[in-house]
Amino acid sequence: MFQNFAPKIFPDLTNYDIIKRRAIMYNFLYYNQETTPRTPWFFENSKLPIILSYLAPIDIWAISFGPWVWCRGKLDKVTKNHEAIHYHQQLELLFIGQWILYVLYWLKGLITYRNGEKAYRQSPFEREAYSNEYNLEYLKTRKAFAWRNYREINNNKT
Ligand SMILES: [Zn+2]
Repeated sequence: MFQNFAPKIFPDLTNYDIIKRRAIMYNFLYYNQETTPRTPWFFENSKLPIILSYLAPIDIWAISFGPWVWCRGKLDKVTKNHEAIHYHQQLELLFIGQWILYVLYWLKGLITYRNGEKAYRQSPFEREAYSNEYNLEYLKTRKAFAWRNYREINNNKT
């Protein structure tokens, strides 16, 4: 009976979508590192990255904050993986630690390169994410604090 009314109350959400959404939320607690590592909660077709792009030195396609990720359009698997890598960096640094270090590394890069885009690319957090985003299995075997291996800039490696 309820199933017949549900689409009228929530025209965009089928029962399946609601269950899926809950499953994504609870992934924080009910995760399995070897099969389904923790992933953030993705919001697709969001205006937030467009608004933030006016303030930031780069064009933001997707932005991660805490357990949420906002995206201008539909997220592909690679971008979801990139943002999930940031999520794991944030979890192990209790969010605030990653935000502070992220800004410090960006400022350090800005002083070194005098270029906002390069400073962003050379941050160890971004280097880890960009280096492994195509490996969709990466988070299943990633060691905690793996971003520390990306602190040394070695241009021959990339
Ligand atoms: Zn990134």
